[in-house]
Amino acid sequence: MAEENIDEIIREILSEDKKVEEEGEEEILPSEELYECPICHHTVSEDAQFCPYCYAVFDEKVDYKMLLETLIGKLKPMVKLASSEGVSVPGIKEDIAQAKKHAGMKNFEAGYAPLQRAYLSVMNALVDHFKKELEKYELVMGMNSDVRELYSKAEGYLEEWEIDDFLTAMNEMKEKASKISKEMKAYLEKLEGVEHAIDIAKKFEIPVDKALGVVDTAKDIADSKKYGDAVNVLDEALTPIKDDIESTMTAFLKVVKDKLLQETYKGKSASRNVMRLIRELKVYRDEGNYVKVLEKMDEINRELSKEN
Ligand SMILES: [Zn+2]
Repeated sequence: MAEENIDEIIREILSEDKKVEEEGEEEILPSEELYECPICHHTVSEDAQFCPYCYAVFDEKVDYKMLLETLIGKLKPMVKLASSEGVSVPGIKEDIAQAKKHAGMKNFEAGYAPLQRAYLSVMNALVDHFKKELEKYELVMGMNSDVRELYSKAEGYLEEWEIDDFLTAMNEMKEKASKISKEMKAYLEKLEGVEHAIDIAKKFEIPVDKALGVVDTAKDIADSKKYGDAVNVLDEALTPIKDDIESTMTAFLKVVKDKLLQETYKGKSASRNVMRLIRELKVYRDEGNYVKVLEKMDEINRELSKEN
């Protein structure tokens, strides 16, 4: 046999061996059967001595002392949380007292039973309570994908009794939702102001098509729930028609000045009001706030037409 062939054969043998190993591994996995805990209905592995969720015992040979200690550690923060959340857990005090009595006499198996009952009660009460709490926020899920993701994350943690992670996810979701609702409110207010200003601009025969284009863009952004970005776009909505507003304003103020110089306006309260409005207009114009500039022009117009 040529050496080359031997190498090849060895390689083949080794690769067959590897295949068998891999197939073998695949066969091992399904053998670890999963089944449902009859007490808390979580999925647990078949050969577990006890349920890792509710600590129900499946195998009487379990170390009850270890279970008792684990349960005490698990129970403490949950009892504290239940009391701070105003969740009442009937019978829990009696169960804990009983467990203490038995544990004091080193009777760990007898002490385990009431403590497991207490833990199950507090967890069921807390999960019910938090489920209702979470459901209150079902409406905010439509806000955006981040909120939706945090909501289902929180839901999943609650299913798995991961209370700390649940609380973190729910609080994050609440914060996100309140930030978005603030941004949404700011967007709606801004939109109203800009659309009103555009209506005024139309009255002054200022071409507004470019500004309307920017508003449409902002609306599209708002449709995808990015209200903060939409506000930033709206802030610049009048920028493309700024020069037209400036020249119209200048011409308008000349007309206003001529009117104020007429005998009929001199010393009248209307004239004082117009002067005040012009001063306000100047401040807004210096700030580059053309939404307000247009509003002031409209107010001045109304003030002048009052006396006519
Ligand atoms: Zn269980």
